[in-house]
Amino acid sequence: MTCPTRDGTLGRGGCIYCEEAGARAAYVEPALPIREQVRRGIEHVRRRYKAEKFLVYFQPYTNTYAPVERLRALFDEALDHPDVVGLMIGTRPDCLVDRGVGKATFGQPAPQQEPAPLALLEEYHRRTYLWVELGLQSVNDATLAWVRRGHDFAAFERAAAAAKARGLRLCAHVIVGLPTDRREDHLAAADALNRLGFDGVKIHCLYVSRNAPLGEVYAREPFPLMTREEYVERVCDILERLNPRMVIHRLTSDADRRTLVAPLWCLDKGGILSEIDAELARRGSRQGSLYRTEATTFAG
Ligand code: SF4
Repeated sequence: MTCPTRDGTLGRGGCIYCEEAGARAAYVEPALPIREQVRRGIEHVRRRYKAEKFLVYFQPYTNTYAPVERLRALFDEALDHPDVVGLMIGTRPDCLVDRGVGKATFGQPAPQQEPAPLALLEEYHRRTYLWVELGLQSVNDATLAWVRRGHDFAAFERAAAAAKARGLRLCAHVIVGLPTDRREDHLAAADALNRLGFDGVKIHCLYVSRNAPLGEVYAREPFPLMTREEYVERVCDILERLNPRMVIHRLTSDADRRTLVAPLWCLDKGGILSEIDAELARRGSRQGSLYRTEATTFAG
């Protein structure tokens, strides 16, 4: 699919950090029909990880940004394999409840022009094991404007509340390292995910890719990126605030070394994960250790 920030509905070129080809596993061939992508993906993952059951991940771009009948056809095709036991569907908040089809979603809901896909997702939630992934990236509206998201934090809250009202299992994407965000914004993001009842989170580090609009912005006007130590500390700060029951799907990013400009440390994924473990051990803390004392004030 595409995104309202790419097709001209809300903008062109996509969000500032988002790579042109979209995030996808290297073994996925997007030109093939879904059925064939699933078959090949299963072969690959089965060989590599000895996996027996599979979730099909609709990852690049906005995977609810199409008419509901097209979505249904794609999701059914993905589920039509005996070893597929569920779906993960990545989307934007405004494309979950109002599809982002209206201009100027900052501060107000976009007008609804077609049925929202929320009812469809509820149907799949009942039929299969479904995760819906929502991009938050930041709670700071100035940051969301800088990254050209085309929606504000209130839109994220509305979408999350509507999805939770239907019982959907939700995972949020958060970026750590955006230059207009401060530590308070990251802590506020953790508190917001607790309050909104999120079931999972993916934490990414900001990196500059030549394949994203940020590559050009950074070349023109370089700005300080987080150091490795700052990133590890900040991720631990977030983990300590999160509800201990929240599933941590990801703690850093997978950057492509061929197009990565900076920071180079983000290529050492294993090293970063070990340092996060070590930092939590050094603090004598863990996920949720500050949840009851501080975060519940916000969680209510
Ligand atoms: S970050 Fe998401 S919404 Fe923004 S351009 Fe990339 S895929 Fe589209």
